[in-house]
Amino acid sequence: MATGNCNNHPPAVFFPSDGVGVETAKEICSSCPVKEECLEYALEHRVDHGVWGATSERQRRRILKARRAERARKALAASREPDATTEAFAS
Ligand code: SF4
Repeated sequence: MATGNCNNHPPAVFFPSDGVGVETAKEICSSCPVKEECLEYALEHRVDHGVWGATSERQRRRILKARRAERARKALAASREPDATTEAFAS
C-alpha cells in the first residue's frame, strides 16, 4: 500500500458504506500500479471488507468461488486420468 494510489486518500475511502463509494474507490484503484498484488493479497488473506485491487467485497467472493470451482474441476479431471501404473497393468 506504500506505493498504491490509496496512499493519497483517507483509508475510509476504501471502506465505503454505499455503492457510490465503492465505485469511487474502484476508480482510484483502477490506475494503481500495485492493483494485481493488492487483489491477490486480499484474496489470499480472505479480506472481506473494503475495496482492494479495484474489486468490491462481492466481486472478491465471486473470484474465490470461481477459483474453488476451477480447482475442483481440475482435481476431478486429474482423478479420471489413468496413471502410469494402471496403464502398465492394462497392457
Ligand atoms: S489497488 Fe490496493 S493499493 Fe492500489 S489504490 Fe486500490 S486499495 Fe490501494
